[in-house]
Amino acid sequence: MSERDTRNAAADGRGGGTRPTADEGSSTPEAERGATRAWHALDVDEVLNGLASAHEGLSAAEAERRLERYGHNKLPRKQQASWWQRLLDQFNNILIIILLIAGAISVALGAFVDAGAIFGVVLINAAIGYLQEGRAEKALQSIRGMLSPRATVRRQGQRRGIPAAEVVPGDIVIVESGDRVPADLRLVALSSLRTQEAALSGESTPVDKSTAPVMADTDLAERHCMAYAGTLVAQGRGEGVVVATGAATEIGHISRMIGEVEQVQTPLLRQLDRFGKRLAVIILMLAAAMAAFGVFVHGQNWEQMFFAAVGLAVAAIPQGLPAVISVTLALGVQAMARRNAIIRRLPAVETLGCISAIFTDKTGTLTRNEMTVTAIVLANRSIEVRGVGYAPEGSFRAGDDALDEPASEPVLRRCLEAGVLCNEATVSMDGQESWRVHGDPTEGALIVVAAKAGLDAEAVRRRHRRLDVMPFESERKYMVTLDRMDDGSLMVHAKGAPDVLLEMCDRVRAEDGYDELNREDWHERIDKLSSAGLRVLALAEKPGKEGVALGAPEQTGGFALLGIMGLIDPPREDAARAVESCRKAGIRTKMVTGDHARTASAIAETLGLTQGRQVVTGKELEGMEDAELRQRVQEVDVFARASPEHKLRLVMSVQAGGMVCAMTGDGVNDAPALRRADVGVAMGINGTEASKEAAEMVLADDNFATIVSAVEEGRKVYDNIKKTVAFLLPTNGGESLAILVAVLSGATLPITPLQILWVNMVTAVTLGLALAFEPGEADVMRRPPRDPDAPILDLFLIWRVLFVSALLVVSVYGVFLWALASGTDISAARSAAVNTLVVGEIVYLLSIRRLTGRSLSFDGLFGSRPALIAIALVVLVQMAWTYIPSLQLLFGSAFLTANDWIIIGVIGLAIFLALEVEKSLWRYFSRAI
Ligand code: ATP
Repeated sequence: MSERDTRNAAADGRGGGTRPTADEGSSTPEAERGATRAWHALDVDEVLNGLASAHEGLSAAEAERRLERYGHNKLPRKQQASWWQRLLDQFNNILIIILLIAGAISVALGAFVDAGAIFGVVLINAAIGYLQEGRAEKALQSIRGMLSPRATVRRQGQRRGIPAAEVVPGDIVIVESGDRVPADLRLVALSSLRTQEAALSGESTPVDKSTAPVMADTDLAERHCMAYAGTLVAQGRGEGVVVATGAATEIGHISRMIGEVEQVQTPLLRQLDRFGKRLAVIILMLAAAMAAFGVFVHGQNWEQMFFAAVGLAVAAIPQGLPAVISVTLALGVQAMARRNAIIRRLPAVETLGCISAIFTDKTGTLTRNEMTVTAIVLANRSIEVRGVGYAPEGSFRAGDDALDEPASEPVLRRCLEAGVLCNEATVSMDGQESWRVHGDPTEGALIVVAAKAGLDAEAVRRRHRRLDVMPFESERKYMVTLDRMDDGSLMVHAKGAPDVLLEMCDRVRAEDGYDELNREDWHERIDKLSSAGLRVLALAEKPGKEGVALGAPEQTGGFALLGIMGLIDPPREDAARAVESCRKAGIRTKMVTGDHARTASAIAETLGLTQGRQVVTGKELEGMEDAELRQRVQEVDVFARASPEHKLRLVMSVQAGGMVCAMTGDGVNDAPALRRADVGVAMGINGTEASKEAAEMVLADDNFATIVSAVEEGRKVYDNIKKTVAFLLPTNGGESLAILVAVLSGATLPITPLQILWVNMVTAVTLGLALAFEPGEADVMRRPPRDPDAPILDLFLIWRVLFVSALLVVSVYGVFLWALASGTDISAARSAAVNTLVVGEIVYLLSIRRLTGRSLSFDGLFGSRPALIAIALVVLVQMAWTYIPSLQLLFGSAFLTANDWIIIGVIGLAIFLALEVEKSLWRYFSRAI
């Protein structure tokens, strides 16, 4: 279906596939009337009728039909630059422009071979840049697809999570705080719903929503009964019927893309770009000065000096560097995605290597988030619940006695029923054998425990109907519902963090009415469950009053405690290993959890967190001055009962102490902390859209160990970039020195400018790219994090560039002079010099695979397939260059004898050994320091 059809169909209210569609596509009066239909001006029932939908939502079959008819709920992609535009872009480069001018001058001078070679190089260079850019772009593209948002809909009365692209007109969509509204909705029910509509109107203050219709001509921003696609739910919860999807939505009209992977330059790329431009200017001036020197001092002719200057410019400018680094970064992003870490902002790849502290959530990140109720404590007794997983099978025991009919125990039953009513989750059979929770696993566990007692959640919810709800929020730490019980009475149910709920209770439910609440006793019971690493929930109830809203202040007191439940949530298998790996890599792992201090501390200890026993709670944190917190945050690794705003302070405190930190988060209110952290990490499965958009990285599996894998990849990427820089710069240095020395001394050029063009072209596509694929050194996770302020060209690298440049130029000259001295002609001497340069680059490539480590080992020499392939290619191409007559004619190369090759080989070996000696001296001195 075309975009226009979608827009019309959804806008005119013909969304119902069940309605006759005789007017489809025609301009009958009915369709015209429909097109002006304003959903915001209609009653809820009219809207539902108009879209042939209902509060229970569509059936699966109807949804499928509509999907076929209206198409996917996606915005049209932004127009991409076409291939020829991107190819032309490659010529927008100072070096290429200089080469083109040089080519044109060569033509004017009648030097057609040189001109042909220069134009050939320009074209090949552009092609390489184009292909490499395409490769980087493709890598990022594949990752973009991994971030597709999801939506919660109600279909046939069942809550379901589906890809947002499958939402259709007429669907009932449920949105909660942190969600991005997936399509244009006419709200049908809500509780304290506020949305932030900056994506649409630019206005960032959240807007209160209601279900009441407004006037038809009301402005978009004032249509409070609508929630538009692309806006964010800042607070509360709402349900709406979809009135438009995809391009038919309001955001579709203005066609602004949101939530995409952002493609920005990284600081490193920018740094290199600037460096490259400055270098180009310096080199051009140097080349001009050199040419003038040759002409005026040594009396060389202008034409020759012109080509020498072009040769110097080509030799000295590391034109391949930015492209190779983009590819290295893109490959890093891809490697991270394979390990479940999806990068949203490219600079994060670099920053990950500098991380010195990771703040992580507990539930679901360090633990599996597979909750099972194992203990229930009521006023008069403690009950143990057995049975694993989400299957409704298990048993209840009180001490040594088995409870055969747990549902017949009045207080236990009340407690279990409250857990089911004050709950948004459902549990269903997934396929044939496994049970699945839809919604929050903590809530799923309460459904499962009730089912183990023989209470069917659906039946309980049908008997006692919900009238209102205040959903769970991390700041509040509890949830409340107002329910009409089957006897007609009103009842308020609450469940939440026990310490918070206890404050709202003034009595406790007993078999025969109510008992007095002994807070100390209950705190002891809570501590006991928490110390065993259990997450504890309390359940409470009180009679409701007609006409009093749930949010009213008097609703926060007067509850009767029903009981508390302890839930196990086992740590993830790989979490302890990841924590240990961080410790070795000089990274502090710090747990920030909303859970109870004892639970947090018990889990921290099982995971081996360094300071697992010491805990700072959110309340204590609030009482601390900045300076005190800055100090405490260095000493303590567990922060419990923490809220999102505490996360922001924690991030700022470690940053003030000079650390670079990652922070995880999933809720809408975590966004500021994620933005502030050096690397904000959002949860792919349980995270809200708001948190994902604020984050630099999204974990596809919500797993802490994935962050550590990403750090490892980040360190590798940086190493590879450093190696690439260390590899390419001396190559340029050696070549340009060779020309410079020859011209300044008035000697014959050992390598002609054309030959330099050739070497650069050949090595840029092969050797230069090999390092991007390096698998990483064995000690990447055994050294401390990199200093973020250290420049990439540090002292070591500057030394290395100079040292290798010198080695290459000495070797090239050595071979050239030796060849001339032994009576060979100039072409053969130059061929030997060119091949020496290439062999020198080959051995340097093998050596640089270990920046300072030993390369003289089987793995050091043969451990990288890309390097071996690149070397094999270069050898082949050089053979062709040396022996094929047409290439000899073009490049002035000549036949080399076996003897020449032996000399070249020995020199290569000498370069390799010199590098090994340099590295071992470096290792010796850096250890000594
Ligand atoms: P984190 O994910 O940050 O490690 P958390 O998931 O344990 O921590 P929150 O979700 O903020 O943190 O939960 C805080 C407390 O609120 C929990 O210890 C629990 O007692 C209570 N709680 C958690 N989920 C619910 C819920 N759905 N309904 C009511 N109370 C809840």
